[in-house]
Amino acid sequence: MTGALRADAWRIAAAVPDPEVPVLTIADLGVLRGVEVDGDVVRVHITPTYSGCPAMDTIRDDIILALTAAGFPLVEVRTVLSPAWTTDWMSDAGRQKLAAYGIAPPTGRSASGSRGSTRSPIRIALSVRCPRCGSVDTREVSHFGSTSCKALYECRACLEPFDHFKVH
Ligand SMILES: [Zn+2]
Repeated sequence: MTGALRADAWRIAAAVPDPEVPVLTIADLGVLRGVEVDGDVVRVHITPTYSGCPAMDTIRDDIILALTAAGFPLVEVRTVLSPAWTTDWMSDAGRQKLAAYGIAPPTGRSASGSRGSTRSPIRIALSVRCPRCGSVDTREVSHFGSTSCKALYECRACLEPFDHFKVH
């Protein structure tokens, strides 16, 4: 019974959209880390895409609203800061949705590619690819794009500005 409840709770929490990129759900982003059902309490664990991301308060409220509307009486949202979120946690579907939305999907996957415990916070800076024409001849215009989680880039090839998710 608890297993079915947990699956329901996961499905509802997973459908919560990211307030900054509404085509993405928090499950697409890898922000949703875990859902536990403990008696009457649903406990949801989330990891912000970067510490201090202002969207996390909205995400927390949306998770609580969605779950209480679905009949879960007590919802706790816990923010888990360790291990830190990495772009590796984004689903492939999430990356495809981002590209379709006109935001460059995060690059700079960890060199090892492993999902083990030895995740290094240091990442190799790779060229940012223009989501419109695919050129890597791009430059950062501003470290803060349309939201503080994104940086504004400009493509030198097609001269289009675009948002790029900050890579951690
Ligand atoms: Zn371009």
